[in-house]
Amino acid sequence: MDITFWGVRGSTPCFSRDKVHFGTNTSCLEMLEQGGERLIFDSGTGIVALGDHLERQGFPHCDVLHLFYSHFHWDHIQGLPFFKPVYRKGTKIVIYGRPSVETVLTSQLVPPFCPIPMEAVGSELQFVTMKAPVTLGPFVVTPFPLNHPQGSNGYVVETENRKAVYATDTEPDGGPMDRVLREHSRAADVLIMDSNNGMEEAERRRGWGHSTWRDCISVARDAGARTLVLNHHDAFQNDDAVREKEALARREFPDVFCAYEGLTLAV
Ligand SMILES: [Zn+2]
Repeated sequence: MDITFWGVRGSTPCFSRDKVHFGTNTSCLEMLEQGGERLIFDSGTGIVALGDHLERQGFPHCDVLHLFYSHFHWDHIQGLPFFKPVYRKGTKIVIYGRPSVETVLTSQLVPPFCPIPMEAVGSELQFVTMKAPVTLGPFVVTPFPLNHPQGSNGYVVETENRKAVYATDTEPDGGPMDRVLREHSRAADVLIMDSNNGMEEAERRRGWGHSTWRDCISVARDAGARTLVLNHHDAFQNDDAVREKEALARREFPDVFCAYEGLTLAV
């Protein structure tokens, strides 16, 4: 499968010239199997560029799009009203998420917060509360809970011979949630994980629901994951800070790097 990163920041879009290498859009990534279903994870502002890209390509494999939400904090939803396929007649978008996914999204995307209410968009929207694995063409997508304020879903995405795990917005709890994350990440070909907190910030940010690069390595090592992708970079980390995080992580784990906007990873 190909995994493309469209937004790799946490909390808020954060443009400044010293952040353009890794990018400044909030969470969005895409998984695509040759000729198969197109899966999208989160609709932070990164999804705006994905919509633009799809339009320029003539909307390939866009009759049905599958959009999975980790949770509903703004950095994971705010790009949706600007995602061009939402306005395309003939596109159906199946939106998967935690309980109340329909209520939460439709009550956000209404005037006066947003000029276009969801019922006025051109595409067909279908909402699915994600409780069990779903099979979509070559993919099986399995949700699991993460430790984050108001909760977050991680997703295991498996094809016949590949396994990717998307685990964003999660903080170690030193107990059952850590075990759940490790179990679901077992032998993953790629683990994409929240590395929001700097090491020096972790203590004072306890309870905010995020991890450090060292927490990510701990999970990858325990789970036997092959490749670790550090994602959800803090909005205030410039390119130098993200590069430093990457360099430190590489001293402790053989196959690790920091996600950047526009990266496509062949898994
Ligand atoms: Zn987030």
